[in-house]
Amino acid sequence: MERIYLDNAATSFPKAPGTADAMFRFLTENGCNVNRSSYETAALAEDVVLDTRHLLCRLFHFPLPSHVIFTPGVTFSLNTILRGLLRPGGHCIVSGFEHNAVMRPLTSLGVSWSVAKLNPDGHFDNPESLFRPNTQLVVMTHASNVFGNVLPISEIAPLCRKNDVPLVLDCAQTAGHISLDWKKLDVDALCFPGHKGLLGPQGTGGMLLSPALAKELPPLIEGGTGSVSDRLETPDFMPDKFEAGTPNIPGLWGLHAAAEFLLQTGVDSIAAYESSLTQELIEGLAEIPGISVLKAPGMGQVGVVSVVFHRLDMAQAAWQLEQEFGIQTRCGIHCAPLAHQTMGTAPAGTVRFSVGYATTRKEINTALLAVKAIA
Ligand code: PMP
Repeated sequence: MERIYLDNAATSFPKAPGTADAMFRFLTENGCNVNRSSYETAALAEDVVLDTRHLLCRLFHFPLPSHVIFTPGVTFSLNTILRGLLRPGGHCIVSGFEHNAVMRPLTSLGVSWSVAKLNPDGHFDNPESLFRPNTQLVVMTHASNVFGNVLPISEIAPLCRKNDVPLVLDCAQTAGHISLDWKKLDVDALCFPGHKGLLGPQGTGGMLLSPALAKELPPLIEGGTGSVSDRLETPDFMPDKFEAGTPNIPGLWGLHAAAEFLLQTGVDSIAAYESSLTQELIEGLAEIPGISVLKAPGMGQVGVVSVVFHRLDMAQAAWQLEQEFGIQTRCGIHCAPLAHQTMGTAPAGTVRFSVGYATTRKEINTALLAVKAIA
């Protein structure tokens, strides 16, 4: 049975052409550390890592390569920012669709939060009323990892400026899927995974920081940076301030190849292709009796679609899809209990289908027939 991978929201597969080769080449022909030595192969390893920052600047229209910080993924990026900025007794504004990479740190940090609700027409409902004197941060997912709805960030960004509160955007489900422009988004931090829409390997990702936030934010971890090694203090210059320890160099070589592929292909053309597949999927699912397709409010939709089966347990449905048809999805709560609470799909959760740049129309049709057969 052919494998039909519809779990790209968890991590993308296949990765971009050239990604695995670049990693193999690094591990077999280079293998050096970066920022520590100046011999030829070390310099080459370093050049590729530096160039990856430049490629990401082009992808995100971000002006400062030194403020592209590499981390193991969005969870690490968000933890760096939330743990660095928030103090017990503080207050945050979030959306009703946050991942636990936001909600768990907020909970353990002892801060309170207000949820910015969306009206059925996709606009925020009076978000300005949520700002309080102790509001320290607004942190929001750009698109839900459960329902795929894109949040109207442009309605929040000016309020953050007006109230002098930093805005942190979780782009786990949008980076590489829709085109992102740092200047237009007008955020203070943009957290991105390397292993989802950017089509790179697991263990890669990062954050773009504004100069003001980079200055204010303390590092989450400290250690060797290969720079100012004679000092006991962590350097305060970028990117070293936030990149202690040996980075994931094979992963970054892979991410470099993936970013080159994305720039050559064009995120806009990937977005148009994924959007047409998603529409086909949603329209097809909507005609199948025995299921409901969940449509969450927002301004647009990425290729993530959640379904509730009326007569089947979600785990049973996902299991049958894979066992009988080779279709790989994800069921349950998707690490986002708040999103299910918002949409009334807790505690059973949903079955989530998520498309990628390599998904085909034939695969979508097979998935629709499979859902119809088991529903
Ligand atoms: N936020 C959202 C919206 C996500 O979908 C995910 C990944 N499921 C994360 C954060 C965590 O990202 P990472 O796996 O890169 O740590």
